[in-house]
Amino acid sequence: MSKQREIIVAGNWKQNGSLALVQEMQQGLINEAIAGVTVVVCPPSPYFASFNATQLQAFSLGAQDVSLFTGGAHTGEVSGDMLAEFGCRYVIVGHSERRNTHAETNEVVAKKTKVALSAGLTPIICFGESEQVRDDGHLFEFLKQQLEAIIVENSVESLAQCVLAYEPIWAIGTGRTATPAQAQEVHAFVRALVAGYDAQVAENVSILYGGSVKPDNAKSLFDQPDIDGGLIGGASLSLQDFVAISRAAI
Ligand code: PEP
Repeated sequence: MSKQREIIVAGNWKQNGSLALVQEMQQGLINEAIAGVTVVVCPPSPYFASFNATQLQAFSLGAQDVSLFTGGAHTGEVSGDMLAEFGCRYVIVGHSERRNTHAETNEVVAKKTKVALSAGLTPIICFGESEQVRDDGHLFEFLKQQLEAIIVENSVESLAQCVLAYEPIWAIGTGRTATPAQAQEVHAFVRALVAGYDAQVAENVSILYGGSVKPDNAKSLFDQPDIDGGLIGGASLSLQDFVAISRAAI
């Protein structure tokens, strides 16, 4: 693959995993020494300390969420500075599961992007439509609203420090992957939208695809000209599958 942009494969463990998986994944990724793709592992936050984060070369650590607040009386929240202190370099913001079950609006996601950036973390900003939105013919208008909320709150230049992740909700955890053509259509739309603000930022920003990526469909997705890697849920819990998907991005 001859893309100039950074190619990234990030694994979102969600509320899954164990200390045994931490050990297996850490040692396995070190042994595999995958080059040419940035591999990111996003476990639940209690596991950060069990990764030897400061020694990591083979992969980076990411969080699945960040608090809107920098500290204080916010029970259950984890700040961007805490994530950075535990070796995280990335943080997922705006995952559809948080938009749906934690009522995170476009504005909240835009503010979390700002919080992540000010803690020195790279936000992996998720966006994507439901099946209903797509069927009703509102796909591009819907995505535009999600993305413009980020740009308005943070400025287009800040996207140079961000990663975008297109995740159609109907493809997440369903086994129903977007076709390479469907995904490419959206990725090209997103890049053109950003280019309307700043062509250089659009050219450089990595746009990942997420939604039932597996070893057998990863390459056909990652071969698309505007797909710069993937955000992987279920398959990131298997070392073998995660390695195969990461290698498919090279
Ligand atoms: C996700 O939750 O970000 C995701 C892409 O999940 P899955 O790969 O399981 O569809």
